[in-house]
Amino acid sequence: MNAATDDNVDDGEIRKFDALASRWWDPEGEFKPLHRLNPLRAGYVTERAAVDGQPVLDVGCGGGLLTEALAQAGGEVTGIDMAPAPLQVAKLHQHKSGLDSIRYLETHAEALAEQETGRYAVVTCMEVIEHVPDPQSLITACAALTRPGGDVFFSTLNRNLKAFMLAIVGAEYVLNMLPKGTHEYSKFIRPSELRRWARAADLEFADITGLTYHPISGEFSLGSDVDVNYLMHFRKPA
Ligand code: SAH
Repeated sequence: MNAATDDNVDDGEIRKFDALASRWWDPEGEFKPLHRLNPLRAGYVTERAAVDGQPVLDVGCGGGLLTEALAQAGGEVTGIDMAPAPLQVAKLHQHKSGLDSIRYLETHAEALAEQETGRYAVVTCMEVIEHVPDPQSLITACAALTRPGGDVFFSTLNRNLKAFMLAIVGAEYVLNMLPKGTHEYSKFIRPSELRRWARAADLEFADITGLTYHPISGEFSLGSDVDVNYLMHFRKPA
């Protein structure tokens, strides 16, 4: 599972998402939590950053859930991922949604950062940093892709006993909300670590907001509890 290649891509991780690709747009399927989260995190981004008419990059876009939401909000969106099958699904689905302007590329952030330095007003990288061998490298690349004065958003899973119990034991084993093996606890990221990596990439911290799952209603909400899943907003100095 951990065969890391030189370019900050874990081949095992990519194979895992490739195998599940066809399930991506089933709202009751393996990616159900992402479907439930999607309006909340898209709203978080569009409330905190100007997306309409702006170049937006979605890093590790998978099947394109957030990518499409940002395009619907008027963004000129590019989605990148290293797994070919989810990208194929994303490309098919964008036509179904009438969002032909989305550009999907099979590449990783570090490679694109060399070609499109400072191009994007908004960069989002959600539920990805806990899947790469070197999060600092990915965060630095996201910062490089952002234009001065632009906004960068990450979401990930916190690393503590509660996150382990809810995100792995609960979501993967008890509720079957996620396929077993989706997440590896040791790769979860504490907010202090994400802030440190972002600071090292010259990003300024703007906000942290928690995403909490309510098992009875099956819904998520935004709030101050960052114990399990959380969103972070940074700005690149102008
Ligand atoms: N951001 C999407 C998908 C999250 S799933 C969403 O939240 O809806 C994690 C995604 O990260 C998968 O599609 C996987 O293929 C991708 N990924 C993992 N490592 C990557 C890397 N090094 N570069 C680009 N994408 C990567």
